[in-house]
Amino acid sequence: MYSLNEKAKGLKAYDPIGGDFQVRLDANESFLPLPEEVLLDAQTALPELAFNRYPDPAAKGLCAAFARHYGVPEGQVVAGNGSDELITVIFSTFLEKGDAFATLEPDFSMYAFNGFLQEARHVPIQKGEGLRVDIDETIRVCEEEGVKLLIFSNPCNPTSLVCPKEEVARLIRSVSALVVLDEAYMDFSDQSLLREADSFDNLIILRTCSKAFGMAALRLGFAVARPLLADTLRAAKSPYNVNALSQKMGALALGQDAAIKAALEEILLSRDELAAGLEELGRKYPGRFTLLPSDTNFCALLMEDRQALFDFLCARGIAIRLTGGLVRITCGTPEENRIFLRAAEEYFKASGKGGQA
Ligand SMILES: *Cc1c(COP(=O)(O)O)cnc(C)c1O
Repeated sequence: MYSLNEKAKGLKAYDPIGGDFQVRLDANESFLPLPEEVLLDAQTALPELAFNRYPDPAAKGLCAAFARHYGVPEGQVVAGNGSDELITVIFSTFLEKGDAFATLEPDFSMYAFNGFLQEARHVPIQKGEGLRVDIDETIRVCEEEGVKLLIFSNPCNPTSLVCPKEEVARLIRSVSALVVLDEAYMDFSDQSLLREADSFDNLIILRTCSKAFGMAALRLGFAVARPLLADTLRAAKSPYNVNALSQKMGALALGQDAAIKAALEEILLSRDELAAGLEELGRKYPGRFTLLPSDTNFCALLMEDRQALFDFLCARGIAIRLTGGLVRITCGTPEENRIFLRAAEEYFKASGKGGQA
């Protein structure tokens, strides 16, 4: 009788919240459909795809579109089946069994999961004061523990906070580890190191089309690094990792700078409305939660009775996310934000100070 090994035994499938939700503010996707321009271009481009052939393993057209949009050299760009895939490739390539990898907690949960699969040693470093990255402490622990790979998101999911790029640069230059800087939310902020990626010999930057670009369903992520690291990633990934449809759609979308800019502005407007609504709730119900300043498309709350709020909203068909000890609410359409804010206010009214709903 075959039985699973210890590592495989405990595995559970990633389970995005199931059920019927009227309002989905739980996954940090864009609430906007793809721009009309992109859909129109797709109408002529898709019938011309050679569906019977394997896609370009290097995804050249897609990488070129990314490189042009962000102003980085094409040779530094590697495409992935979502940045999730690139995280897995990075862990399996740059870590050997038993090597130490560090995360800055709380952060994106997939990092620790990949380290587990890789049988690497997890060194969780707690974030500092106000959930901000403690650069000096991070450098100290990384060097002391012989960390081979340091991975963190900036801006951070779930804290929504951004760390200034000068500080991140100082961190990268001060550790001997390979640093994987996950800039999944950097389109909403202005502290990117993308254009300086090749000035660091130990840096891989990750980006994604799932958040700001409204293409979560297409699974498109990118790694940007100097040629030695980029070439290694190209060699380590599975050959046809990005399918032809996604390559084409990504290239088309990344070519529409004006539409991208307009969508970004709309998302940021929604984020600001959500934050303003939460601030107002904070004034009306003092002491119930703390809203963190957001450089992302979501708002993060420090809150004691977060499970009760979550359950209250679930029962009303509204999905949010509890992660890393925080309440995380993705900004939605103006209507979705209003529905959420109204229900949250109901919760605070019904539950009273410090009480349970
Ligand atoms: C959403 C998210 C990702 C995953 O992006 P995909 O490209 O959709 O795989 C990676 N990192 C962080 C921090 C995220 O929040």
